[in-house]
Amino acid sequence: MEHVTRNKNDMMKDVVINYRGCGHHEYYGMLVWRDGLQYCRRCIHQIWVKENPNGWKPGPDEKYFPLYEDGINYYEQDLKKGEDSVYE
Ligand SMILES: [Zn+2]
Repeated sequence: MEHVTRNKNDMMKDVVINYRGCGHHEYYGMLVWRDGLQYCRRCIHQIWVKENPNGWKPGPDEKYFPLYEDGINYYEQDLKKGEDSVYE
């Protein structure tokens, strides 16, 4: 697993890639474990829908990367901070 950005206040908001599973950009705290692998929200939702065609479906308010579950783009904020100052 590689960290693309690190969030000073909450490691759950760190952005990671290349984890065992789908490996897409996702917040560390938003990864979903399944059969020993991890998936971003978009991929795990596709899996759930595929397995249960008549069951749960993502709603219109579902949040996907780069949005955190609260609808905020911490990734963009942390990228900008990284450019502004190394010493912050
Ligand atoms: Zn994915």
